[in-house]
Amino acid sequence: RVRVRFAPSPTGPLHMGGVRTALFNYLFAKKHGGDFLLRIEDTDQNRYVPGAEDYIIESLKWCGLVPDEGVGFGGDLGPYRQSERKPIYKKYADQLIENGNAYYSFDTAEELDELRKQAEADKQVFSYDLHTRNSLKNSLTLSSEEVQARLNNGEHYVIRFKMPETRDIVEEDLIRGRVSFNTNQLDDKVLFKSDGMPTYHLANVVDDYLMNITHVIRGEEWLSSMPLHVLLYESLGISENRPRFSHLPLILKPEGKGKLSKRDGDKMGFPVFPLLWNNQETGESYRGYREDGYFPEAFVNMLALLGWNSGTEQEFFSIDELIESFDLTRVVKSGARFDPEKAKWFNRHYLQLKSAAELAALVLPELKEKGIDPDPQKLERIVGLIKERCEFVKDIWAQSHFFFQAPESYDEKTVKSKWKADTNEKLESISALFGTITDWKAEAIKETFSAFMTAKEWGFGAVMVPIRLALVGGSSGPDLFEIFELIGKEETIGRIKSACE
Ligand code: GLU
Repeated sequence: RVRVRFAPSPTGPLHMGGVRTALFNYLFAKKHGGDFLLRIEDTDQNRYVPGAEDYIIESLKWCGLVPDEGVGFGGDLGPYRQSERKPIYKKYADQLIENGNAYYSFDTAEELDELRKQAEADKQVFSYDLHTRNSLKNSLTLSSEEVQARLNNGEHYVIRFKMPETRDIVEEDLIRGRVSFNTNQLDDKVLFKSDGMPTYHLANVVDDYLMNITHVIRGEEWLSSMPLHVLLYESLGISENRPRFSHLPLILKPEGKGKLSKRDGDKMGFPVFPLLWNNQETGESYRGYREDGYFPEAFVNMLALLGWNSGTEQEFFSIDELIESFDLTRVVKSGARFDPEKAKWFNRHYLQLKSAAELAALVLPELKEKGIDPDPQKLERIVGLIKERCEFVKDIWAQSHFFFQAPESYDEKTVKSKWKADTNEKLESISALFGTITDWKAEAIKETFSAFMTAKEWGFGAVMVPIRLALVGGSSGPDLFEIFELIGKEETIGRIKSACE
């Protein structure tokens, strides 16, 4: 059975790249009738940010990517928060020490800092690896008595993986194909610390094993960890059912160069995070797709196409269609350029799919806040008339305010070019005509009006634009006869009169 996991670290709000990782895991699981897990990787206590975990869970829920198991969602193989699994990892670290694949290292932070500085002065980079490990303070260089004595003394230590020498680790990444690393290029990563906490690498591998994960689908930044993870499975003797790896491409800035960063949104005016993030303590705040008025289905559709395509021209996908079409082999290797305009375009599409009744319900709270309490049927008609002009629910008001309120001002340019010497006179006779109409319906008004215009031999343009100005304040908007009907006879005549004053 296919089992995949989304394994974020709660170090801050979840970036849209993280949501895409969750989405691809979700799609892969559902496509194969498998399970999608949420595991919180919080072993690095220094980077823990309060609120981040809730943010992650709320984001997944908003996107409809509900885990089958995980923190906040139950499941038989929990706990799913690594800090609650602390006792599990020691045994695996011990096993690696015993079979010679890991060692204790007692070098202090100051000593290592010193080595780093020295290397830097020599224009080199210090690395704890096969070249340096034999001259450092660890169980490979110290006598076993001394090691034991230090451990008994409760001295600070870490357990490091002993990267084997001169081996090619070759792995078939499901997106990238064959990837190969030579172990001589890799350092001895810390796996476990004397405070009893594993690091990311050990906890990640042990948990993927214990949670029966079959496929690891994660961001490109973890590709370089893959050889270590492969070797960890091997050294622990649990390679047999280990997961297959897939590394997703980066999401690039709109200009196509460089990784989309969390600050780009504010700089360029678009959200990079699914939900608004407001950290009172640090004052750090980022806008979110949800609060910016995006529909989750638009956000998800847009994300799905960042690095994946179905191989057809199709761009609009419901979540079920995504599940149906998703295939890891159609995920690209190179970076995927993010286009904020495209995100809006998707939102416009999903807004058009909503019925006028749905949109009316969505805009109603905003109207009520303004003290407007429209008749529901009327509101539905209004929304139906203007929705094609909207990308977001928040555009509805801008496109429809004149149905509820007389214009406060008139577009000056249009007044200058279209309000002629005889306009007042013409509009006055039209007002008089309107006064005689009893069946105040768009169709009927249009008929009477057209007959009148033909009789007078007046050009439509000469009066339509001024009337629109009078009713709307500007020169664009939906059909005028619909507006007449919806705002009512008295209001129509009143607004024309006011405009003539
Ligand atoms: N905790 C890692 C992260 O924050 C998980 C990487 C992985 O999926 O292996 O992305």
